[in-house]
Amino acid sequence: MTAVCDAPLDPIVYLNRELVPLSEARVPVLDRGFIFGDGIYEVAPLYAHAGGRTPFRFAHHLARLARSLEKIGIVNPFDAAGWRALIERVVAANEADGGLRVDQNAIAYVQVTRGVAKRGHAFPAGIQPTVFVMVSPLNLPGAAQRAQGVRCVSAEDRRWLNCDIKSVSLLGNVLMAQYAAENDAFETIQFRDGLLTEGSSSNVWVVKDGALFAPPRSQKILEGIRYGLIEELTQECGIRFEAREIAEAELRAADEILVSSATKELLPVTQLDGRPVGHDGKPGAVFAALYAAYQRAKAKEALEAQQGVNSEFRERIIA
Ligand code: PMP
Repeated sequence: MTAVCDAPLDPIVYLNRELVPLSEARVPVLDRGFIFGDGIYEVAPLYAHAGGRTPFRFAHHLARLARSLEKIGIVNPFDAAGWRALIERVVAANEADGGLRVDQNAIAYVQVTRGVAKRGHAFPAGIQPTVFVMVSPLNLPGAAQRAQGVRCVSAEDRRWLNCDIKSVSLLGNVLMAQYAAENDAFETIQFRDGLLTEGSSSNVWVVKDGALFAPPRSQKILEGIRYGLIEELTQECGIRFEAREIAEAELRAADEILVSSATKELLPVTQLDGRPVGHDGKPGAVFAALYAAYQRAKAKEALEAQQGVNSEFRERIIA
């Protein structure tokens, strides 16, 4: 169901101060990421354009990474400039060895775990976090998929109540993604106590009478970087937006349902649990307007990067 594929077989990755082929990257089994799922990750798109490759909404991704680390008491190993430089290093290494073409969109995956220590649940003192960065080509959903929309299924949200933390403890999400796969669906949309939360790896949006609704920011959902973006795009498009609780029945009576994530951007859901969404089960006008606005936002950031407004990356693109 994920849009990421076409990855080189053995990309160059960063692990604990070293650039190594993925096939040679190793972490000790006592890494707390392995033993406890005690870590944080982040996934940020890097869009290719005529002037180079620009990370999209990068400051927001880094801010969410910092927030997640802080919430679980891991000291952020880099500041924003440090993360930017590190990702650029991995990008450059993969371009140099032919794993990533300069004109390819990419996705940066960053993971920080608490580090390696004798097994014991509470935080050990004085250990170094494990830092891993991987950059892969990003294949965005194509025009055919956008025109057709995607099929989703629904299920009860059984995850923990710290979904705002982008934790590598993803078993609840993995089970929901597997449920979708087993039902030949793109995504599982979850409800907690009869209220919409989110997908296994996406935020969910509901359109009714031309207005857009989303569950409010809370510990029950991960606030996607597209959450704030789409909120901004509604203003640009003159679409009324309201963050509020959405009952299951409202989702099922929606005119349109949308899902968003870094790798999917924005996609229309045209079937839910085997029934067409809206009156005709076709992507709607609000999707079309927001998708177009999303593409304009990408072009604007790319232009700003080329013109140097988006400071640090401009220097690295030219260097
Ligand atoms: N919710 C969950 C559970 C996710 O895994 C994701 C994807 N990271 C999102 C929402 C969307 O976040 P973003 O827009 O930052 O990709």
